[in-house]
Amino acid sequence: MENKECIFCKIARKEIKSEIVGESNSFIAFLDINPKAKGHTLIIPKNHYVTLLDIPDKLGNELLSFMKKISSELLEKKQGDGFNVIMNNLEPAGQLVKHAHIHIIPRKDRDNLRSIV
Ligand code: AMP
Ligand code: ZN
Repeated sequence: MENKECIFCKIARKEIKSEIVGESNSFIAFLDINPKAKGHTLIIPKNHYVTLLDIPDKLGNELLSFMKKISSELLEKKQGDGFNVIMNNLEPAGQLVKHAHIHIIPRKDRDNLRSIV
């Protein structure tokens, strides 16, 4: 399942360059090109699913484990002392790239990043 024009499909197929920081069977993690903080990472399914609602339930365990692996590595590398997990779903929520992705954003005390919750 892929979308020829989708930039994140191209990253998953390694047709365009990205800073890949991890990979599992069905997911890939790479650095955000316009990071909100050093180490800002995106996790995407290799298949072209548009939002959270399209990701099959059977990938749930793999996704959770992969998110935990990437997040704990950011803490171990001291890129943050905490982290936010954010997913924008559909345009009103700020989803610009129409291929599901989860932001993992390292946080530090007084880093002056705002949060919507
Ligand atoms: P969103 O608003 O949740 O759709 O965020 C899309 C994110 O994808 C933004 O943080 C962008 O900086 C990031 N992004 C877009 N194109 C690329 C790319 N080629 N490589 C890495 N990150 C990208
Ligand atoms: Zn795609």
